[in-house]
Amino acid sequence: MAETNPETIYDVAVIGGGPAGYTAAIRGAEYGLKVALIDASPRLGGTCLLVGCVPTKALLFNAELWDYLKEAEEFGFKGVDARTLDWGAVMARKNAIVTKHVNGLQFLMRKHKIALFSGFGRVTGGAKDVVHSVEVESNRVKSPVKAKNVVLATGSEAKLLPGLKADETILTNIEILSLSAPPKSLIVIGAGAVGVEFASIFRSFGTEVAILEFLPRMVAVEDEEISKELARVFRKRGIETSTGAKVEKVEKTADGVRVSYTDANGNAQVKEAEKVLVAVGRGPLTSGIGLEKTKVELERGFVKVGEAQETAEPGVYAIGDIVAGLPQLAHVGAMSGMVAMAKIAGRYYRPVRRDRIPSCTYTDPQIGSAGLTESQAKEKGHEVKVGKFPFAGNSKATIVGSHDGFVKVVTDAKYGEILGVHIIGPQATELIAEAVAVMELEGTVDHLMFTIHAHPTLSEAMLDGYAAVEGMAINA
Ligand SMILES: Cc1cc2nc3c(=O)[nH]c(=O)nc-3n(C[C@H](O)[C@H](O)[C@H](O)COP(=O)(O)OP(=O)(O)OC[C@H]3O[C@@H](n4cnc5c(N)ncnc54)[C@H](O)[C@@H]3O)c2cc1C
Repeated sequence: MAETNPETIYDVAVIGGGPAGYTAAIRGAEYGLKVALIDASPRLGGTCLLVGCVPTKALLFNAELWDYLKEAEEFGFKGVDARTLDWGAVMARKNAIVTKHVNGLQFLMRKHKIALFSGFGRVTGGAKDVVHSVEVESNRVKSPVKAKNVVLATGSEAKLLPGLKADETILTNIEILSLSAPPKSLIVIGAGAVGVEFASIFRSFGTEVAILEFLPRMVAVEDEEISKELARVFRKRGIETSTGAKVEKVEKTADGVRVSYTDANGNAQVKEAEKVLVAVGRGPLTSGIGLEKTKVELERGFVKVGEAQETAEPGVYAIGDIVAGLPQLAHVGAMSGMVAMAKIAGRYYRPVRRDRIPSCTYTDPQIGSAGLTESQAKEKGHEVKVGKFPFAGNSKATIVGSHDGFVKVVTDAKYGEILGVHIIGPQATELIAEAVAVMELEGTVDHLMFTIHAHPTLSEAMLDGYAAVEGMAINA
């Protein structure tokens, strides 16, 4: 906890120490600004580090290894017993990874001389003589932190269905990350990224998983063919998915939970399981932080911002999950924080572009996408030319034993500009980085067809994907 000298005037006070807030704070310090960071949680890192990106990916890595071990004999390993999972050790490893990175953040705060305040922060109105005052409340004691600029980075929380409260049976992303054992059965409500990731992880650990999704397809923000392929592979893996399903009631039973819903044909259905995960989206944490005393404008609770993340209140910025119109992703939060700090420091910046954001879903198989889907490109009036290359034709995919999925490249037929890349398959979340760089540089198919990709690698599937636009993939 930083010294609370009420006379100190910081250049910036950041409220919220998740990936948006801590990245902004560090970048601000790198620009030479005097930065205060206020977080309500005893541990820095926010949703992402404590109960989101990092612990889920730690579990997913275990799940992937476990799936490989189930096929041990195929890889020539005899005598491997893939039945005795030490869940306690799995959870301990996940917790150790989180703690290591929480400590890493504490180190970075010290290294960059960022004043850290532990407590709930709220703005007290507009600036007086160009200085804002943020009230930090801890153990019912309120202390002021003064700053020339304020960056709001308070993040989001899981939405629950009306009348539900999270507990040991009705789970959100928080409770499901500290289960004492994988449940025998799990109903997942919601097939967005969070829902399908947990469905994938727990299926690998032997849980019977059923997904109920209100929309007509899973991962609805993705290209339609990606949704279809995920549904196909999930079916093959024994994950049952009902789309177009409207959940009516969730009730606890003696053995777990009963979910009543109306299926896509309008028929009433009931499913029972040991646990239910509610993954129906995340709401912004913008109430109770004093915004009503400012000119900050909200849209369904999300903060409206300009291209440098500035709000309608002079000197107040908003970044991360609370921003209207941006996807709720850690790297988007981090970049929006870097943009805000560059603006505050009077340095060069480029606004966050919605069509240059890698969107990753860490399931088995993984999904990585960026830019326009095929139908979005058509809706925008592009004459669209598409190339598709299946991982079945890629030798590295065979080596790692992962043949499901494909690379789909959406281009503008006239100039060959890459408008979107949609990958489902092995390491899709890593491969998508190339596509984002290509789109940043307005790469064209002609150019990329002559860009050398190493052999044998999964990235060669990208080369074949670009060539497929001209009907000239080599390996399919
Ligand atoms: C299960 C799950 C998995 C995910 N996986 C990924 C992934 O793999 N990749 C990805 O990009 N995204 C992922 N996300 C999304 C990602 O976690 C969020 O986009 C990201 O955490 C948002 O960052 P943020 O800094 O805006 O908010 P948060 O991470 O929510 O942090 C907000 C911080 O603000 C603090 N705070 C809130 N109110 C106050 C206040 N008034 N005063 C002081 N402090 C306050 C909180 O304590 C918290 O530390 C996942 C989310 C979930 C739930």
